[in-house]
Amino acid sequence: MAGIQSNFDFISSYCEPTFNVEKYQSKKTGMKLYHINVPLPSIKLEICVQTKPYDDTGCPHTLEHLIFMGSRKYPQQGYLDYISAQHYSLGTNATTYRDMTTYELTTVNHQSLATLLPVYLDHVFNPLLTHDCYLTEVHHISGETGDDAGVVYSEMQSSENQPDEILLYSILRDLWSDKSPYYYESGGRLESIRNELTLDKIKLFHQKFYVPKNVAIVLCGGGINIDEILQILNNFEQENCFQNENRHKISFDYSLDENLRKKIKSDNDKFPFIKIKRASLDEQSISSEKNIEINPISIDTTKLSVQLTTADGNDSSFCDSELMVSHGDSSAPSSPSTLWQPIEVDNSIHQRNMNEYKEICYPVEDNDENLGQVAFGYRLESVYEMEIYTALDVLLTTLFDEDISIFYKEFIEVPNMFCSSIDHDWLNYPERVLTIIFEGVEVDNLTMVADKYSSVLYSIINNPQDNQQLYIQLQRNIKKTIDLHLNEIENEPFSFLTDLCCLDHISELSIPKLNNNENDDEQHLHKFLRNKKYLENLFTQPITYWHELIKKYLLEWNSSKRTIILLKPSNELLIEQQEQDEQRISERLEFLGPNGLKKLKTELDQARANNKQSSSNCANIPHTSTSFDNQLHLPPIEYYSNDNDIDLFHTPTSHFVKYTLHIPLKNLSPDLQLYLPLFSHLLFHTSIQYENIHLDKFNFCERVSRDILDCSVTNGQSSSSPIQSSYVYGHYIDTFTISLQSLSNLETYKNTIDYYRYALFGTLFNDYNVILEECEKQLKNLIEAIQDGHTIHQVYFNSLLYSTNSNSYYHQMNIFLQKNLFEKICKQPEKYKKEILSKLEKIKSFILKNLSHMHWSICGNMELIKGNWQIMEQFINESKIKSQIDIENQEIKETKGKHIPVLSPATIMGSPHEESGYVIRWTRLSISQQDFIPLLIFSNYLDMENGPLWTACRTNGYAYGVAFDFDFEANLILLSINQCSQLKLAYSSAMETLKHLVEQKTNLDVQRLNAARNLTICMLTEHLATLGRATGVCIRSYLNTYSIEKYQDLLKDINAYKCNETVFLEIIEKYLSPLVNHTQSSTLILVNTNKMKETQEFLQKEHEIKNVILIKDVVKHLCR
Ligand SMILES: [Zn+2]
Repeated sequence: MAGIQSNFDFISSYCEPTFNVEKYQSKKTGMKLYHINVPLPSIKLEICVQTKPYDDTGCPHTLEHLIFMGSRKYPQQGYLDYISAQHYSLGTNATTYRDMTTYELTTVNHQSLATLLPVYLDHVFNPLLTHDCYLTEVHHISGETGDDAGVVYSEMQSSENQPDEILLYSILRDLWSDKSPYYYESGGRLESIRNELTLDKIKLFHQKFYVPKNVAIVLCGGGINIDEILQILNNFEQENCFQNENRHKISFDYSLDENLRKKIKSDNDKFPFIKIKRASLDEQSISSEKNIEINPISIDTTKLSVQLTTADGNDSSFCDSELMVSHGDSSAPSSPSTLWQPIEVDNSIHQRNMNEYKEICYPVEDNDENLGQVAFGYRLESVYEMEIYTALDVLLTTLFDEDISIFYKEFIEVPNMFCSSIDHDWLNYPERVLTIIFEGVEVDNLTMVADKYSSVLYSIINNPQDNQQLYIQLQRNIKKTIDLHLNEIENEPFSFLTDLCCLDHISELSIPKLNNNENDDEQHLHKFLRNKKYLENLFTQPITYWHELIKKYLLEWNSSKRTIILLKPSNELLIEQQEQDEQRISERLEFLGPNGLKKLKTELDQARANNKQSSSNCANIPHTSTSFDNQLHLPPIEYYSNDNDIDLFHTPTSHFVKYTLHIPLKNLSPDLQLYLPLFSHLLFHTSIQYENIHLDKFNFCERVSRDILDCSVTNGQSSSSPIQSSYVYGHYIDTFTISLQSLSNLETYKNTIDYYRYALFGTLFNDYNVILEECEKQLKNLIEAIQDGHTIHQVYFNSLLYSTNSNSYYHQMNIFLQKNLFEKICKQPEKYKKEILSKLEKIKSFILKNLSHMHWSICGNMELIKGNWQIMEQFINESKIKSQIDIENQEIKETKGKHIPVLSPATIMGSPHEESGYVIRWTRLSISQQDFIPLLIFSNYLDMENGPLWTACRTNGYAYGVAFDFDFEANLILLSINQCSQLKLAYSSAMETLKHLVEQKTNLDVQRLNAARNLTICMLTEHLATLGRATGVCIRSYLNTYSIEKYQDLLKDINAYKCNETVFLEIIEKYLSPLVNHTQSSTLILVNTNKMKETQEFLQKEHEIKNVILIKDVVKHLCR
């Protein structure tokens, strides 16, 4: 516990058998510290700052980016990340929410944490916020094309038109008035970033919100010396002369800022593009008393069209300035002073009619195929009402989330289903927000779905005699929620528990104390942590309690704090947006002229040069190095194996067991491969008959849900290990996997093995309606999936890798072919009935036949299993008998289908609604085992924060993300650049950087190589830090080259590894030079359809790549 001399008071503590939390607060400044003690090998630091936006310029988000670009004590750009890597830490990260910004760091021990904390705090409290960084990291206008760019701009460009983003933004806009921070997009709307945001606005925002009182430091992990941390914080407070903040002090600060305000104005004058172009503006909208200057670029009007549909069918179109119109385009840019008006009180929302729906559009290429969404948003009570929220969550899970729920039955299990999924979600604001979203709704059904929602809820209340089933499901979900909670603490305390501490901090700042109760603070934090108690209380509640919840919160909630939104695809909107963008750019170009552009270019080039210079100075700062003690305290795992059939990974501290059954499916014929995804979706979701047990779909699902926390049936596996690249996901696609997780007790163990039995031996494919339902659901999911440019890019890349011929598993299961299949079935269900049923039966037989090759990986607490081995043994023997069946000889015949060119120099795909660009460039070559460690270090060297590739793409503001990757299992070397606002520049810059390395025009930075090695150690440690993560590695041990034991050795080897320049030069020659050579590598680019031609010309002219393949419509291209 804390030393007496500290500024920090001990506030409260909370204890559970597996963790404890202590809370401290500085009496001098109000800054808080939370210490979550969990015995794990990594430590996570989170610095949580309350940040509330008062417009759409994205001050919180842009500030979050600029915090990392140098501070008063450490002005060198990128120093924080550089020094973090040296000290065995992962690169820093940060997230901006509507009301807070969190800064993160993960490291391996206390010593590193103690070194890095003061450096991080200096960045958070004393950032430099230079104009040079604003241009590259936030926003600038390209001197070449007149386009908008910058890292933040690119990031928001890739998300602003996403249906989910539009929906959330619309919901929150409707629930709050413009006096509230929740009304605004804290990430920044493109239009506001372009027109209203200035560096001075960001500086003022920092001054207002980044004060100690608004800050909480959350530490989670093992081995933290809290006394030393408190001493560090003490010193930091003293050095920075923080005063105890209060409102008076803040307003005093602002009166000092008169000079700064004047400066804003004069700075603005210098911008070449800021001039009044009144002709294109509505005179009325310019406020008369001031002489305001507005960018000519601010002429884009409403981004999204809004209609209000009333129940009587009278559509009245109107342009609601309260909704999607950006804050600044119809009025003058708000002067900084408007930021500081005390506008916390929010009661200006008008009453709405109960059946008023709002229609919102999102831009799409063509309307025919696209689906809409229906969303219900509720702004509920204070976040402290945890009893209510815990109950509501159980209720909503029971009503919506399961496929045996009432809503599933009413909306999905019906002919021509009304939607493909229903989900509820919570936003943890001080007044909690609940959203319930129906996805995959046909546009003609939107209103009907919205109406049906309340009629189904009313029918539950009005027919209590039918509620018996509901009550059983509720009881089951109370128990399940308790288990899931335990599971979350076991698997992800770094996010689960730290989030709760941040919530405590923000709520305390936002919700004034109701009374002078001394123990108030204490109770609040405990409320968030103690939800097991609330859940247990729910067991005794009668059905009427649940009825009251439905009535009060879902049906009769104050209509001014509730909204219903119908989200619709619109091609018109897309065309309109494109026209406006074109017009905006062309007017801008005309306005700027060649001289204006040149000036911009010079300014930007200078900024880039300055940034690079600053960043290159990082290595010159002397620092004491910490050493990694080589004493890793990885989660305890004992490994047992039995004849290669079974691997047991015993983790004595776990409460759970995860069973994974792998069945190799080599030589399954292609026509059956095509149906394998459908088969997987149906397993555990249809009726079964095993010996004398018959269960229909509902009863089987109900039974499984009682015991199983997590059930997944998959082919292949997602890559989440350092030996596989995240861009490649066809690994082990010919292995069929069933994974079930349950509590570690004898009864559950027996039941779990029974569920394997029922599903594998007893699944019946005789209910065609269930099968059709699944097809329709999958079709809707796929239609939604292929709207996303990034997904298409990844999927098509994987097709290029794996679809060497149409017989390959990947080819048959790629989403384009699957979409075709489901479309075909849904159009003519009767025609295909016989075929489908027979294919599913054949797959089942094939799987049974292959049970003779099955492999089990069982992880978790094995005490019970070890003592009751016969249960497992019995299943294995039974499987062996079942596998002795004859199946008809499956001769593999070539099926007709498109062959995909394996190696073309470059392919460009177009996406009509994707603003951002995506690049992947790769080469296939075998990676030798002995190169593994230097290659791993080198790949981290290249793409670590402020490493060579990062500098090339991100520091220059061309793209949001860049990665150099290799895939040890698929033998691939890859360069990927994501979310490019300026794809051509990003591509050229990345390629030049790599070429210079190959040609030895740039030297390797040995210091940074060492940092990359230390970063790699932290990465691997983090990968195994919790039981959940280690379990993931254990399960993959059977398939992957790297088993859990090899991982631990790998860690030691990397720690012992001495970076030697000669070795890295060999690595470059062997692995990098083929990647930069056009004859040995391929490139796949996704851009907006309008930019395909110019991108093709660019590749030909600037990179001498000829024979570029253009794919305008990738869906058609692959499906035919
Ligand atoms: Zn960002």
